[in-house]
Amino acid sequence: MDTKYIFVTGGVVSSLGKGIISSSLACLLKARGLRVTIQKFDPYINIDPGTLNPYEHGECYVTEDGHEADLDLGHYERFTNVRTSRANNVTTGRIYQSVIDKERRGDYLGKTVQIVPHITDEIKRRVKFLGNTGNYDYIITEIGGTVGDIESLPFLEAVRQLRWELGQNSLCVHLTYVPYIAAAKELKTKPTQHSVKALQEVGIQPDILVLRTEKEISADMRRKIALFCNVAQDSVVQSIDVNSIYKVPLMMHAQHVDEIVLRKTGMPVEGEPQMKPWLDFVDKLDKATETVTIGLVGKYVELQDAYKSISEALFHSATYADRKLKLVYIHSEKLNESNADERLGDLDGVIVAPGFGQRGIEGKFVALKWCREHDVPTFGICLGMQCMVIEFARDVLGLEEANSTEMNPHTKENVIDLMEEQKNISNLGGTMRLGAYECSLRHGSKVAAAYGKELISERHRHRFEFNSDYRDRFEAAGMACVGENPATRLVEVVEMPSKRWYIGTQYHPEYSSTVLSPSPIFASFMAAAINYHKEKAAEA
Ligand code: GLN
Repeated sequence: MDTKYIFVTGGVVSSLGKGIISSSLACLLKARGLRVTIQKFDPYINIDPGTLNPYEHGECYVTEDGHEADLDLGHYERFTNVRTSRANNVTTGRIYQSVIDKERRGDYLGKTVQIVPHITDEIKRRVKFLGNTGNYDYIITEIGGTVGDIESLPFLEAVRQLRWELGQNSLCVHLTYVPYIAAAKELKTKPTQHSVKALQEVGIQPDILVLRTEKEISADMRRKIALFCNVAQDSVVQSIDVNSIYKVPLMMHAQHVDEIVLRKTGMPVEGEPQMKPWLDFVDKLDKATETVTIGLVGKYVELQDAYKSISEALFHSATYADRKLKLVYIHSEKLNESNADERLGDLDGVIVAPGFGQRGIEGKFVALKWCREHDVPTFGICLGMQCMVIEFARDVLGLEEANSTEMNPHTKENVIDLMEEQKNISNLGGTMRLGAYECSLRHGSKVAAAYGKELISERHRHRFEFNSDYRDRFEAAGMACVGENPATRLVEVVEMPSKRWYIGTQYHPEYSSTVLSPSPIFASFMAAAINYHKEKAAEA
């Protein structure tokens, strides 16, 4: 069969959840046995989001092949269980960079280089890149931004051309917003009509409209929208607010979106998507009554998208353990010795978050010391693991000046130090140790038990590492280096065997947790937190 291309655009406002709609559609097609991947085209000039502050654009996700990616790629993997790669995330910056490189090489043979056709051709080439591998039946392309933005125009022009070239092998899904005006007690369709007009003005006719709404949209209203927007009535569907993003695929299926997509792209509509494992997960999340309370200590807590993959991985593990997750965000800049009892006292487990730079670091040390002394299940990820090492060095090994050279380049006790391969790097973009690396786990360690095997692979994003000169001292004092890179012997996991669960990973296990394949180490942390909760309840 020919590869089919689905384009997902958004109108009216941003943050409507194009990523979740794309992921839900992919989830349903995959459950019908089709080979699907999703890619995100972002209109900003940055080459990738790696250098963006999380306040700008939320978490930076990392693919196995080491691309610093938009956080929507995290949703794509969590919903489809299909790994993404650097080919799944393209920005205006990357498009221009390759066009300018070609111009410098003389590839354009003296022609004037222009947005149309050169930039649009490069966009089209990249849209079709994964399709041309022959590995996929459906390529879903999410266009970032909102229709009407200046910066989206070249992408929409490329979509227009592709739709013309691909005919029935392509389709456009447009996500818009239907606001509820409380004073009038009415839902309003006008913004949707305007955003579809804006799309039609650039030559794109949507095939399916997904209406994001807080209230049920009546059949009459759908009829009206269908009429004004030249869209078939059964292809106007609603995406009403639900209590979990993982219910969106079911909601889309209930409105036959997967069937409509198959039909409109010339595919036979047979049988039903195999959603049993997904339904079991959703059933668990609906039935859970008991709560598990996890604290997340970090400095970006005002913006919860900054820790998206961690909160989702926690949600997966809590749900599979039949618990409701209560996630308490703890601002590391506001945590100190005098409020630690009050802020940390009711938690069943604590995560110390990844991060960069000095800000908020003292609060992470306070949390770690408190958790270590009170034997609370504690999970340090990346910078969180590095802080575990520093706090232990200061308090247990008596190395008062212990630090990371990231925080103090002149520290005498550089227990965390810049990696050798990082020493001559000056560009910040895409130069960290990125992507999946193998890690061998010590036989008999808690972490090896968690994974159920001794050779694993997880994704990384860091420049600094545990300084192996200190390894023996840590081991002797009760912090074991239980995971290391088999080739370089870089320390990847530390663990305190004497504690209930006190583990730090240099890698980011949260990136690989999906609904159908949840992270084993998060599951182990969650089990420890639940046990601790039970122990406390039994004592009380
Ligand atoms: N800043 C630390 C480093 O670069 C940790 C990075 C992280 O937490 N992702 O090594």
